[in-house]
Formats: sequence, structure tokens, C-alpha cells
Amino acid sequence: MNDFDRATWRSTAVDLVCTRCDKVHALGQVHNLCECGAPLGTRYDLDAARIALPRAALPGRSRDLWRYRELLPVQDAAHCVTLGEGMTPLLALPRLGGRLGVRLLVKDESLNPTNSFKARGMAVAVSRAKELGLRHLAIPSAGNAGCALAAYAARAGLRATVFMPADTSREFVEECRIHGAEVHLVDGLIHDCAKQVQAGREAHGWFDLSTLKEPYRLEGKKTLGFELAEQMQWTLPDVIVYPTGGGTGLVGMWKAFDEMESLGWIGSRRPRMVTVQADGCAPIVRAFHAGAERATPWEHASTFALGLRVPAAVGDFLMLRALRASGGTAVSVSDAAMAEAGREVAGQEGMFFSPEGAATWAAAQVLRRTAALAEGETVVLFNTGGWYKYAEGWRAALGM
Ligand SMILES: *Cc1c(COP(=O)(O)O)cnc(C)c1O
Repeated sequence: MNDFDRATWRSTAVDLVCTRCDKVHALGQVHNLCECGAPLGTRYDLDAARIALPRAALPGRSRDLWRYRELLPVQDAAHCVTLGEGMTPLLALPRLGGRLGVRLLVKDESLNPTNSFKARGMAVAVSRAKELGLRHLAIPSAGNAGCALAAYAARAGLRATVFMPADTSREFVEECRIHGAEVHLVDGLIHDCAKQVQAGREAHGWFDLSTLKEPYRLEGKKTLGFELAEQMQWTLPDVIVYPTGGGTGLVGMWKAFDEMESLGWIGSRRPRMVTVQADGCAPIVRAFHAGAERATPWEHASTFALGLRVPAAVGDFLMLRALRASGGTAVSVSDAAMAEAGREVAGQEGMFFSPEGAATWAAAQVLRRTAALAEGETVVLFNTGGWYKYAEGWRAALGM
């Protein structure tokens, strides 16, 4: 971000509202979940934002997610903690798209700091944590969230503690440690790690930055929706295929679409939102097809797409709501299908995705076979991370 952007800093955030009971919460206080147990959403003075941030002002701004600062919660530029996150490329995948008879695009999120889209959420959440005077942040992580928190906390001069499943690849663990975070390996999965964060809150005085258990990672992730519209000249695709764990990106984009419509940036048309999960951990897919409002926790979750190894999510009802309101659907794919999909994208389009990203290409093929995707439609995949830290998993999945 340049000095001009810092000098013209403004946020139009006004308060927070519960996504379930509608209780309003003050912006100047530290928040986790609402007393009713549901996530909080940040509200903005969209009338003020419409004047402060006309669409036409965007091209002159910094090429990072802070170009949308009026629609982000950070009040003072001095508290903005940035490593240059956001404004990732939206690229065509012409060979694979041609094979399906669709216009296929990918938002390549591996180009974010620390190699995944977790940087978006952490940039905004760590900035707000710093602004609100918090000193020590803790999270459960499947891998990428830990790396992003560790880097942004180091940048902000705050302490970070990360709980990860004991079988997480060394690359994630070592990256956290090199940024100075304290890493605890837990015999279990991410929800077991979450229990440890919860248990240590009082004793250690740390702030729980778990997915959707604080309001601002969602605000960072919603910029995916702003960028998509801006990069598509203020149109949106017919279908978005999103690899879903905790669901922040999915719920965030859905929020961004509403905000952009209020600002007059886009119309009322919405993409069909599609969740993709792994056969070995698909709680949202199961709940979607059962017609349920909440998901039941998945037993014995297993997949090499670590970001999808999330057996239970606090935002399950928000994801299910967005999928249904959009006319979308939910599909799961096997690890073998992800591996094959990854090999195809790498060989035919020159991009080696994370397993989660590869899952979106595997899912697009399923959608086309089942006619959930029609000929000539525009589809956006999300490559949510890079392949490097999954080297061990890829080697096993591809039999290399
Ligand atoms: C965390 C993560 C996901 C899942 O993202 P949510 O917004 O939590 O659903 C997908 N892919 C990668 C690479 C991740 O790190």
C-alpha cells in the first residue's frame, strides 16, 4: 500500500450484527461469537461508502485488498498490517474449459503471502486485533491458517500460538516456528485443536482467532468477491466452485455480493455457489442433500486436502443458506480424483494447484456430467493455495 492510500484511509464500518439472532454489537469492543453462539457480521454505512468509494476510483488504488478499505473494518491506517495480500490473478483455463464446453477461469490464491488465501483473513483480523489492543492470538489450524497467522503476527509484533494436528506436514509447522509462533501438535483433528485453544483462553489470556469465531477473517475473505467482480468488469460468473472447510470464503463472497449490490456496483444476479469437499470429510455436502439446516460432525475425517479436513464448522448454517439461496449445490470428490485433477491442470495449463484447488477442477467435471453446469457457462474455480507444503501428500497421492 502506498502513502496516498494511507493518507486517504477511511472505513465506513458502524457495528456488528449477529447472523442468527440479529443482536447488535459495538464496533469498538473485542468480540468472539454472539452470546447465542453464532458468528457476527460487520455492517457498514453503505450510503457513505457509495459516495466515498465509487467504482471508478478503484483503478488508481494499491493492488492489494486494502483498495476496498471503506468496506473493511480497520479504522486507522496506522493499524493496518499488510504483506501485500489480495488482487491475485484471475486466469483462463482454455484447454480444460474447452474439453467441458464451458468458459473456465481460476482465481489463483497461491500467490498470496504465505502461499494461501488464509492471508486475506489474517491480514484484516490481525490488523483489527492490533487496533483493539490484543497482544496474544491463538488458533487451531489444518496448516495454512497457522502459517498466515504466524507471519502477520510477526509483522504486527504480536504473539501467536498455533495448535495443529500431529500429522500436519513439517513444512507448515516449521514455517510457523520460523515466524516465531509457538506450535503445539495435537493428537487429533482441527476440532480437537479448537478445544485446546478454548481451554487455554483464560489461563494464557490469548484471543481465539478461529474461523468465524471472530468477525474479521470473514471481512478479509469477502474481498474475493469484490475482486472477482472488478476483474470481470462488474459481472459475476454463472457458477463458483469453492473448496470448503470452515466456509469463510463462501460466506464472505455471499456477503460481498450483497454489499456491492447496495453500492450499485453490480445488479441482483448471483452466481450459483457450489461447495466441494472430500469424500473422506463432507459434512456440508451431506447436510445439503439431507435438507438440513445444520451439519452433523463427520467421523474419522481423512483427506490429503488438509484445508478440507474440517469435521464440524460453526458457520455451517451460513454456508448451507448461501448454497440454497444461490441455487447452487454441494459435491464431494475422492482423493484419487483430486490427484488426477491436479495432474491434468499442471500438465495442460501449467499450474500446480494445492489439493483443495485440484478438488475444484474434479468437481467441475462432476457438475458438467450431472448437467448442474450447462454448455457455454462461465465457471470460476479457486486455487486456494500452493502445492509446495503438500509435497509429501502429492507424492503419495500421485504414486511418485
Ligand atoms: C483453509 C483452506 C480451505 C478452506 O477454506 P474455508 O474458507 O475455511 O472453507 C481451502 N483450501 C485451502 C488451501 C485452505 O488453506
